[in-house]
Amino acid sequence: MKERYDVVVVGAGPAGLLAAKALGENGFDVAVIERKKDLAAVTRACGQSLLPPNEYFFGDIFHYNEKDKRFCFPLSGLSFPYTGPIKPLYTWHMFSPAMKRMQFGYGPQQGAPIALSYDKEVMLQSMIADLPQNRVELFPATEYTGLIPGQGALMVQAGEQRFSGSCVIAADGANSRVVQHLGYNTNRRHIATLYVTSYFITGFTPPYPDSIITAITTVNDKPVYLFLLPRPTGEEWNFILLTLEPSVDLTKTYDAITRDKRYASWFANARRVRDFAATEYIYSPILRPFRNNVLVLGDAAACQELECLGAMLSGWKGGLAIAAALKEQQLGVMPRAVALYEDWWLNTYIKQYDYQEYLSVFGIAYMFARPDIIDYIFERLGTDPFPPTFNPYTATGLLGNKLQAALPAMLKDRPDIVQQLAATMFRFPSDVIAAAVGQD
Ligand SMILES: Cc1cc2nc3c(=O)[nH]c(=O)nc-3n(C[C@H](O)[C@H](O)[C@H](O)COP(=O)(O)OP(=O)(O)OC[C@H]3O[C@@H](n4cnc5c(N)ncnc54)[C@H](O)[C@@H]3O)c2cc1C
Repeated sequence: MKERYDVVVVGAGPAGLLAAKALGENGFDVAVIERKKDLAAVTRACGQSLLPPNEYFFGDIFHYNEKDKRFCFPLSGLSFPYTGPIKPLYTWHMFSPAMKRMQFGYGPQQGAPIALSYDKEVMLQSMIADLPQNRVELFPATEYTGLIPGQGALMVQAGEQRFSGSCVIAADGANSRVVQHLGYNTNRRHIATLYVTSYFITGFTPPYPDSIITAITTVNDKPVYLFLLPRPTGEEWNFILLTLEPSVDLTKTYDAITRDKRYASWFANARRVRDFAATEYIYSPILRPFRNNVLVLGDAAACQELECLGAMLSGWKGGLAIAAALKEQQLGVMPRAVALYEDWWLNTYIKQYDYQEYLSVFGIAYMFARPDIIDYIFERLGTDPFPPTFNPYTATGLLGNKLQAALPAMLKDRPDIVQQLAATMFRFPSDVIAAAVGQD
């Protein structure tokens, strides 16, 4: 351990590791502190699908270079090895409470997949192996506990340990403690809290093979979402249960859902192989993520999550910006690198990926007053498949356009439903959700 680092990175997720790679490759000394003992272990629920590989996302066009086994972001000058398995997924089937279905994508004949199922543990391992070893020191089982300003340096506290650096990168994910300590959360809106349990299961009988299956349902009249994605090899599926309702006991929900007659045939032979959980605060995003020589990256600065590809690009670009800022300091050059990163963040994430659109996907069960209205909408809109996407922002746009086009016919057919929709359609999803889950 050095007496002083150029940068201390808090969190060794995709964002923190790529920030460390950018800084190390530019010749700066980095300490990465991570609370997990096993850096590559995935201990929190994650869909482990990379999306979207068929459209621009955060200003780049991600792809997997199969020959060299690398994940590539050509416009950002970023690539890193990935030595694990990949399964391309081409279709997304979405079920309403009464099993009406909407489909995105047309199948493997369509060209590019909508998501890549991958192994996140192998990816984290590959990212760690790719770090410049003479520059980046990793500190597992080291949990950030505080930040102390010092003379020309910042001191990161991890229990009894102290790490000194000219700059700090906060990449400690959703619920970031660094963000809380910096005071950002006082100006952000806490909209809801997301509760998740997830399971790797075998013996699952999917209604559609090699696809992404999602469903909106209720447990004790409270909305619960089901996500099912195939793992990249073998027979395993990743089964995720999500709710914004604190009163839903998700541990009991696994049994309730797998026995429910709507889904029971899918789960008749299912067996749990591995269990995960997650709890995430959903806040409005941070608009200007640099304060007092601390740059906040990845999910830590976002509304709940950027998706892995967004977190990676934010980590890489943020790391490069801090490398350039340190160089500016050394040379006495007028600073601009951090401002350029903040512009990128503002223009690429805040302006193009409106968190309200993101919330309308999570809040879909709240945007419609009753389950039978969701069924009606699914039946109306689900007549033909939508273009291929698993990008929540793109999906919102496609659904919104089709709903708008269907409104005149719906007005004739079910004016009562259109009247119900009007009550939420002109409100911000954050307001609708916050009111429904009692955060108002
Ligand atoms: C249920 C669920 C499903 C998801 N599915 C997908 C999906 O299918 N595809 C996709 O692209 N994205 C998915 N995501 C989102 C994805 O997981 C994140 O966007 C991505 O991991 C963010 O990367 P990050 O590096 O910013 O944060 P994280 O991956 O959260 O990494 C933060 C790191 O900081 C560490 N840390 C936290 N606090 C401290 C502390 N105090 N001290 C030290 N270390 C600390 C954590 O242990 C962690 O290693 C999902 C998320 C959830 C919750």
